[in-house]
Amino acid sequence: MDQESSFQRIVLIHYHEIGLKGHNRSKFESRLLKNVKALKGAFPLVTIHRISGRLVAFLEEGTSIEEALACAAFISRIPGVARTSCGLKCSRDMDAIYAAAIESLGLAEPFESFKVQARRSHTDFPIDSMTMNKDVGAALCAAFPEKRVQMKDPDVTVHVEVIQNSAFIYAHSMPGVGGLPVGSSGKLMCLLSSGIDSPVALWQMAKRGARCSAVHFSGAPETSNASEYLVDDISHVLEKTGCIDKVFTVELGAHQRQISLDCPPQLRVILYRRLMLKVAERLSSAIGAKALVTGESLGQVASQTLENICCTDAAVSMPILRPLIGTDKQDIISTAHMIGTYEISTEDAPDCCTLFMPRSPETHGKLSVVEEAESAFPIDEWVDELASSARCVAYEQPR
Ligand code: ATP
Ligand code: MG
Repeated sequence: MDQESSFQRIVLIHYHEIGLKGHNRSKFESRLLKNVKALKGAFPLVTIHRISGRLVAFLEEGTSIEEALACAAFISRIPGVARTSCGLKCSRDMDAIYAAAIESLGLAEPFESFKVQARRSHTDFPIDSMTMNKDVGAALCAAFPEKRVQMKDPDVTVHVEVIQNSAFIYAHSMPGVGGLPVGSSGKLMCLLSSGIDSPVALWQMAKRGARCSAVHFSGAPETSNASEYLVDDISHVLEKTGCIDKVFTVELGAHQRQISLDCPPQLRVILYRRLMLKVAERLSSAIGAKALVTGESLGQVASQTLENICCTDAAVSMPILRPLIGTDKQDIISTAHMIGTYEISTEDAPDCCTLFMPRSPETHGKLSVVEEAESAFPIDEWVDELASSARCVAYEQPR
């Protein structure tokens, strides 16, 4: 592949849902622009601008195509990005446009068929889009005589966009994660284990624009704190695309021991879950989170039957969002692979879920029975104690 280009490389950042936002649109666009700028890390971005309906990131001079593609792939994983295109910027001159189109199409190998799609967002450019399609197409046919033009479903589309002072040419696009930019939908508190499901649930809500903090309950001091390290690793993965804010860690082992000693064994898990939710609710008020999030999926395990979900729901007055409630495990696993948390989540670590588990947990909990069992414990005091002993780590998130 040709490393050097005589044109400046660009990444066009397309969005979809933001485009539907009517008069709020500019707020969403600015949010996305801010997020991409803040997350760019070591990628060679010089600057990012808003142009009609898209963002365009300009890459440093001398950026190789490999670096540009890696940058576009990274940006496509940021919530709010529907698609990215790797391309070239050139002057509004037909010879420059032909040369940039030939270079762009060359990078799209291997392919058999192509078409040109030109548009001008400024009518002060004298050549209309139909003529540009024809002329750029002719230049490409001359440069690639063995390829054919195909208007319907070509292997490659060479886009030519003429804007105010320059033209953008691109033939390579990749899909993004979609959704809305983080920071556009309020704050949430997610119950985050080191398992497969809850990191996916958190990511899905971040992808809907929520600023997500999390609380993790470890089994310490009754177990090792290995799950805390896994949650930290998961959080670092989510941090790369700006999907996680603060993580609170609460040691639940001692309280679980007390519950296990004095509660009918089949109800233990429901009581553990209710205690977790109450602590999460308390921590939420400290950070202004408006709802809780869990990774539950209907019927997946004993604690996730409809009856038991009703029993845990009743523990708090905040709304509980369950983005995975109707999702099959296989689909959750695919998403975990895609976001990069799966490998970490399948490492073995005891956490509070594995602690003091009864042999046969209740699958059809009744709220009155659960509340009766719970009344044996000083729950309010425990919630105070646990919430005030929570340790907090803040991850990098664009503000
Ligand atoms: P996960 O893979 O997310 O752990 P799971 O299928 O193992 O889910 P459960 O163990 O029943 O299901 O947990 C249901 C939900 O309760 C989790 O998705 C998570 O939101 C919350 N949860 C469970 N254990 C913990 C924990 N140790 N810390 C924080 N939240 C937890
Ligand atoms: Mg679990």
